[in-house]
Amino acid sequence: MAMKSLQDLDVRGATVLLRADLNVPMDGTTITDDGRIRASLPTITNLTGRGARVLIAAHLGRPAGADYAARAAGGPSLAPVAARLGELLGQEVPLATDVAGESAAALAAGLADGDVALLENVRFEPAETSKDDAERGELAGRLAALAQLYVGDGFGALHRKHASVYDVPALLPSAAGDLVLAEVAVLRQLTAAPERPYVVVLGGAKPSDKLGVIENLLGQASRVLIGGGMSYTFLTAQGHEMGRSLLEADKVGEVSRVLAAAAERGVEIVLPVDLVGAAKFAPDAEHHVFDVTAFPADYEGVDIGPATRELFAAKLADAATVFWNGPVGVFEFPAFAAGTLAVARAIAARPGLTVVGGGDSAAAVRKLGLPEDAFSHISTGGGASLEYLEGSSLPGLQALGAE
Ligand code: ADP
Ligand code: MG
Repeated sequence: MAMKSLQDLDVRGATVLLRADLNVPMDGTTITDDGRIRASLPTITNLTGRGARVLIAAHLGRPAGADYAARAAGGPSLAPVAARLGELLGQEVPLATDVAGESAAALAAGLADGDVALLENVRFEPAETSKDDAERGELAGRLAALAQLYVGDGFGALHRKHASVYDVPALLPSAAGDLVLAEVAVLRQLTAAPERPYVVVLGGAKPSDKLGVIENLLGQASRVLIGGGMSYTFLTAQGHEMGRSLLEADKVGEVSRVLAAAAERGVEIVLPVDLVGAAKFAPDAEHHVFDVTAFPADYEGVDIGPATRELFAAKLADAATVFWNGPVGVFEFPAFAAGTLAVARAIAARPGLTVVGGGDSAAAVRKLGLPEDAFSHISTGGGASLEYLEGSSLPGLQALGAE
């Protein structure tokens, strides 16, 4: 069975529960990058343009607390997202005060054709992420009761077996949104027959998130460049001392096995040769460039050094296909963004298929001022892209009928 798309749903006058990914980075109640909201607009306007009543379910951040009341009290609320979405759509987007309770029901009942409304942070409901099928099922039932149709367009959450992603589509006629279809089309290109050399750049905080994808990519990629926080575990596996840098000591063995497997398969793994080390984790920290063979005990790695920037650019210079996930430094601090900027520029210079995946990577590209059209595709989902490339079947895609 193939996935249904928006055109397969007769939406006029119907209330559509749209699962979107509006999980934007926040600084307090200020949205620091609205890319995921903008990426959700085409599906929303397709639906409203055809006379649907659009009720959006989405999550934001990591609400903490044992029960609904504690989470709702602690936040984060989707209120800033509702406001920004309203600005971008040019129409008011009211926000329910709950997820699938009285306020949500009243809001849903009051929608007119072409209206858009938002439910509160779906992760206020502990059942959303529950491992217990019955708990998720109960929440899914309450969400489904708010609408007649379901559209799954939250690409960044598709790898999660969550109630609003996985269970609701089983209860309502469902289709995949345009963002999900576009993301999957690009990932298929990357897995089918990528033009070679196919160079993968991986960064971000921890290797544990990405070891699976690296192992799988050894069968496909010509070369894997590794930077960012995750590189320190690789450098440690190679015998270097990394001072107070981020390290997953329990992954050193697995990393060594991945390095050996890469060597055996002839896949080149390129690691940093120098690093920017900071005396503390702060935007104004005292910092210096160190060779990886002489990294001091009381510093922590925060960016790739200038020699590594050149090395990575050289290793990208002949790439016909590039997939990049994860900043190679703490780009949120301008003093430590130079490595990520150098990588972004080297990738943007390639004429072939260039894909940037990951919420923080996409935010970095925009924050550093690169035009979005410098890349073939900027994916809204890091974890979801990686799991797809790993060869895992994504629960949210299965639920939408992907084969
Ligand atoms: P994405 O969201 O694109 O998938 P990740 O979430 O895996 O990326 O990683 C992004 C985070 O990794 C950023 O917040 C960045 O600050 C952090 N990071 C990158 N390099 C380092 C480093 N050297 N030390 C600590 N954190 C780092
Ligand atoms: Mg991230």
